Amino acid sequence: MGEPAGGHDVLLLDLDGVVYVGEDPVPWAVESITSALAQGIRVAYVTNNASRPPGQVAAHLRSLGVPATGEDVITSSMAGAALMADRVPGGRVLAVGGEGVASALRERGLTPVSSYDEHTAGVMQGYGPDVGWRELAEATYAVRAGLPWVATNLDRTLPTPRGPAPGNGSLVDLVAIVSGRRPDVVAGKPEPALLQEALRRTGAQRPLVIGDRLDTDIAAGHRLGLPTLLVLTGISSEADAIAAGPGWRPDYVAEDLRCLMPGRAWRTLAAEAG
Ligand SMILES: [Mg+2]
Repeated sequence: MGEPAGGHDVLLLDLDGVVYVGEDPVPWAVESITSALAQGIRVAYVTNNASRPPGQVAAHLRSLGVPATGEDVITSSMAGAALMADRVPGGRVLAVGGEGVASALRERGLTPVSSYDEHTAGVMQGYGPDVGWRELAEATYAVRAGLPWVATNLDRTLPTPRGPAPGNGSLVDLVAIVSGRRPDVVAGKPEPALLQEALRRTGAQRPLVIGDRLDTDIAAGHRLGLPTLLVLTGISSEADAIAAGPGWRPDYVAEDLRCLMPGRAWRTLAAEAG
């Protein structure tokens, strides 16, 4: 037995494997989110994927039937830009990645640039489907020069309908191999910055972290001492959760997001194992 969704004021939902897979909705996600909103619970979407600005992610959600706006979406680019603004306020930042990276830097008063020179103050590296050799070479020059280096996330793989593809972590590894450095800080889950940004933007008092991966979503919740719910619609299985160490162990587990509907009893792993 656990507490119902109504015990929380904000749900911090992961997207891929929780709300959608690629373009398509996860079964019951749309109906369940609609139900949570009707109960007066705020839903925010928290994603390691840095490539799209929040408005584009919200448009994707609306196309599935989820009534979201850009205000409801927090990406690792937004958290990364906050980390960069702390280090080089107002600076010119080499932006490696999609439009999501550049727009997040602009929102924080930084100037995204596409090549490295003596005026460049930092490097932010995130995923973008068109990132190629030239951008990775510019990043390498800037990193070798010792500039602050923020990675939006270190996911090695990116799920696609044709199987895993290289994620931002693999491209960060490439720059690390060539430069001999690692990023100074990482924004995305399991690091705390992305969820901290989500808490700041939503003003959540009793949040619940919901995700499909123990090693990112659930681990990030634990890092901040927040309650966590694993849904079994993505990467991690219930067996994974039962076998997980304390830092990756979710408080609750559910087949899918229907647990957000009124009157549902929530399962805890302790009850399962007991
Ligand atoms: Mg996911």
